[in-house]
Amino acid sequence: MKSELAISVNNLSKVYKSSSDTDKLALDDISLTIKKGSIFGLLGPNGAGKSTFINILADLAKKTSGEIEVLNINHESNLIEAKKLMGIVPQELNIDPFFTPYELLEIQAGLYGIRKKDRKTMEILKMLALEDKAKAYARTLSGGMRRRLLIAKAMVHDPEILILDEPTAGVDVELRSNLWENIHKLNQNGKTIIITTHYLHEAEELCNEIAIINEGKLIAHDTTINIKSFLDKMTVIVDYYDNKFDLSGLNKLNLDIQIRDRQVQINYRPSEINFHVMLNAVNSSGSQIKDMKIIETKLEDVFLQLTQK
Ligand code: ADP
Ligand code: MG
Repeated sequence: MKSELAISVNNLSKVYKSSSDTDKLALDDISLTIKKGSIFGLLGPNGAGKSTFINILADLAKKTSGEIEVLNINHESNLIEAKKLMGIVPQELNIDPFFTPYELLEIQAGLYGIRKKDRKTMEILKMLALEDKAKAYARTLSGGMRRRLLIAKAMVHDPEILILDEPTAGVDVELRSNLWENIHKLNQNGKTIIITTHYLHEAEELCNEIAIINEGKLIAHDTTINIKSFLDKMTVIVDYYDNKFDLSGLNKLNLDIQIRDRQVQINYRPSEINFHVMLNAVNSSGSQIKDMKIIETKLEDVFLQLTQK
């Protein structure tokens, strides 16, 4: 069965016109789809075009060309309806410092025409662990709290799709994991989540699909697992108690083997050799194994390879 799409983008381009400087092609013919119910990561270095992409969805920037659909609703001819389906948390922590979180959410609900009796202000604040701060001035909130307040604000109209532009920028480590928990919870409750990040480990841990953009171009889009297996390399380092190991079993497998003092390093392609076959060969060496390390390719490596072309 074809899975439903949250966002479908075809041939999207964005040129920032400049009178003094040369025009900037910030998005270059991007086509991609984002599945409903996924946690999707838009990954790329600073200046790649991530915020431009998000800002076009949020209607804060105008596309130059291309087509966008949000849950099958055309983003151009049916913009107001399309916008209602999305809650967007911008990269900048712009919060009016003289309002309280409670007031800010009430104002936002008013903007969306949500009637008083239908508002869920305290419920949303609670979900983002801000209920204690409901009546505190926003200027007294920490960076992490401000970020969560912006998420709360984006959720006032109960959108199907929550889009977060660099959500963990300026958020300390502890609050970061708290934020991830919240994001997971929202996803489990059926929301599609789109996050941009230039932290590779973040996309790797959080997202089930990843698109990588660089200089406005889409250079990869796949499941996180496939992106990680892009290089299809695994390294296994085996430490033995002595140098008496017999490698004939391993040699039969035609692997890249490096022998050091009481240590063997095996480089192989997981797609070609079953891990357990390799492990059995290691175990048949006749020497006692002291330690074994498995080094998987990190998304970081994939990213570097793709962007250094
Ligand atoms: P990212 O969010 O991935 O860091 P951006 O989308 O913010 O990237 O920027 C992509 C490119 O577009 C950068 O080269 C940036 O300088 C340029 N850019 C972004 N916003 C504007 C703007 N309002 N006017 C002109 N150029 C812009
Ligand atoms: Mg950005």
